[in-house]
Amino acid sequence: MNQEPVDLLIHGGLILTMDAERRHLRGDLAIRGDRIVALGAHLDIPAGRVIDARHRAVLPGLINAHTHETLTRGLAEDLPLNRWLAEICFPLDSSYTPDIMRAAAMMNQLEMIRGGITCFVDMYRYPSACAEVAEVSGLRAILAPQIIVDPPGVGESLEEAEAFVAAWKGRSPRILPAIGPHAPYSCPAETYRRAAQIAAAYDVPIHTHLAETRWEVDTLLARHGVTPAEYLDQLSILGPRLSVAHGVHLTSKEIGLLAERGVSVIYNPTSNMKLASGVAPVLELRAAGVTVGLGTDSNLSNNNLDMFEEMRLGAILQKLHRGDAAALPCEDVLAMATIEGARALGVAEKIGSLEPGKQADVILVDLDQPHLWPLVSGEHENTVEQLVYSASAADVTHTLVAGQLLMADRQVLTLDRGEVREKVVEATRELLARAGFERSHPAVEWKELAP
Ligand SMILES: [Zn+2]
Repeated sequence: MNQEPVDLLIHGGLILTMDAERRHLRGDLAIRGDRIVALGAHLDIPAGRVIDARHRAVLPGLINAHTHETLTRGLAEDLPLNRWLAEICFPLDSSYTPDIMRAAAMMNQLEMIRGGITCFVDMYRYPSACAEVAEVSGLRAILAPQIIVDPPGVGESLEEAEAFVAAWKGRSPRILPAIGPHAPYSCPAETYRRAAQIAAAYDVPIHTHLAETRWEVDTLLARHGVTPAEYLDQLSILGPRLSVAHGVHLTSKEIGLLAERGVSVIYNPTSNMKLASGVAPVLELRAAGVTVGLGTDSNLSNNNLDMFEEMRLGAILQKLHRGDAAALPCEDVLAMATIEGARALGVAEKIGSLEPGKQADVILVDLDQPHLWPLVSGEHENTVEQLVYSASAADVTHTLVAGQLLMADRQVLTLDRGEVREKVVEATRELLARAGFERSHPAVEWKELAP
């Protein structure tokens, strides 16, 4: 055993490795610098700091593989999708400034740290502002500037996206720039082609929405005579660099195409239910060999960023949809929130499981809670069952990224809650004013914002 002291020892927890062996072991996990150096039943290693993990599950950090760091949660609810987009989302999207975006990113990242998310994909506005916040928050971020051509003025341009990628590629080990053409109905063929060229030139991922709604499929069929995945294939966009959010309305031919080209799909069950989009064919995708990750989508369409709730609803929705209570077992859905998410985003050699040599992106979950009792050990151990079907974001006690503690005993150490709250109120006021939302706007009672 390596007797050189380690920086941190997580002691006596129930470790779920989520590696190829899917081991569950009671023991210790040792971290030196930004990496896991050892795990085992009893590690006899001197450590600079010890965290007592008795009665806690020790997991790889959760990977939120699709979100948008929006600000205006809960201000316009229960509208039909087309009215919500045209009357609420687009006017707000076009009114963000880098400072407003910074406040939104702080709110989103504070929530994600508190919920055990250690890595997220953000596809929205002013990614440099989000990257600066992630440098402070300590989270691992994949930031894809959201390029929208139609309607104009609501997203980033290709030029802005390329400038962001050029500026942030290789700048921080935790921040990975990407390129994010919004969807095949909002970006023309030329935008997708150039986005793919930029991604190849800088060797960064591409992230897009695909086949989210029936309307999208009908629109693509009317415009181009092909379905959304077939359309992107005609443009030579499908490949291992690409991950697509939603994939709700896919034909079996398209599922085969995604599998063949090595494209990953991100499942967003809550958003798909709330926006009445439909149910993604997760079992068919997995059976075809497509890697499926899990995401919350934005706080406008979810509305929280609770990956535990996403796991639970993701599993339950598949069971209901298929009329089969055995569909999508909890072990599989936990894998989608960890190692499969990492694979979907092309970062599985660094994160997604607890293995020596990997980045120390680790969370602790308090299992000693009445809503997680009874806990069974031994052959019929039920930790994964409790985590997926009963736990919530509020049960996470510690969040570490690259060996750095971002939250300890539910105290976030990198962002100040009071300061974030103040900035969120200020930024929301400014955003609503810039968007021209009057007091009489049906969606927003903006004078009543809580201080
Ligand atoms: Zn989305």
